[in-house]
Amino acid sequence: MIRHKIRWATALAVCLLMAACSGPANLDPPEVDVPTALPEDIDFDPEISTAPPDDSCDPVASYSPGSVTAADARALLGDRDRIAVGISQSTNLMGYRDPVTGDLAGFDIDIAKAVVTALMGDATKVQWVPMTSGEREEAVNSGRVDMVVRTMTMTCGRWGDVEFSSEYYHGGQRLLVTKGSGIASLADLTAEHRVCTGRSSTSPRNIADQSRAQPVTVPDFNDCLVLLQQGVVDAITTDDCILAGMAIQDPRLEVVGDAFSEEPYGIAFAKGDVDLARFVNGVLEDMRADGTWQSIYDQWLDAHLGTATPPSPVYQD
Ligand code: GLU
Repeated sequence: MIRHKIRWATALAVCLLMAACSGPANLDPPEVDVPTALPEDIDFDPEISTAPPDDSCDPVASYSPGSVTAADARALLGDRDRIAVGISQSTNLMGYRDPVTGDLAGFDIDIAKAVVTALMGDATKVQWVPMTSGEREEAVNSGRVDMVVRTMTMTCGRWGDVEFSSEYYHGGQRLLVTKGSGIASLADLTAEHRVCTGRSSTSPRNIADQSRAQPVTVPDFNDCLVLLQQGVVDAITTDDCILAGMAIQDPRLEVVGDAFSEEPYGIAFAKGDVDLARFVNGVLEDMRADGTWQSIYDQWLDAHLGTATPPSPVYQD
């Protein structure tokens, strides 16, 4: 991915230079080098639960901010110099390494930085811990990280394992296909189609419940891109913001169809860290009110997903 971006950036710079000297630049999309190695651990026939969905709670209902101060929250974490935050470093638009600066960037990263700044007084007092989707619950509950900001959907099942902040992004699951594939929506998927998705995510269940396609799972949704590029699968399915980031990386791909699930994102904390969740919910309230959330959304997602306003918080107490 980094190599593609550097090639694109170089091609664009050369084109712009040529335009300055000799008329209109050729801004055709660059060629994309498709890696030849397939990811390990592909399951072409995953077992997917058919148990009734767990709707025993309101998944977006978190804890009202109350009066937990930053000093209280830091004390809860043992007054350490830095807090550890679980993120993705390979999800374009959400959490990825900028190939030019080497820094982490994206919507989730900026949300996390705002929380770190409010908690620690300084955005640099953080240890970023890259992880896959399947590592998130274990990472907070083992104490490996203090919180996870990584495209994580709030579900009743997950509330059994972690605490969540209030909702900070409202996504939905969609499809990413090769242009001209003939697949324009979920309704076009037949039993012959293979659809790749991340194993430990909400996505396999949604696609299995709502289409006839054969789900194919890999450890992390990012592993799906090469499978689609090589024609091993016919589509990728995961959340809209993640697919938008993949589509940017390969101009031969497009996101199609309406969203067919609700994916409210929350910041996850260890089970029992309720006061930390309350503090962070106060920070998110401030970010909604002072325009910080809006400017982060507008910077990363507006151009790809359209205008949005922050999700309203819901509190269970
Ligand atoms: N938001 C979904 C989930 O938390 C899919 C994306 C991901 O795996 O991070 O399961």
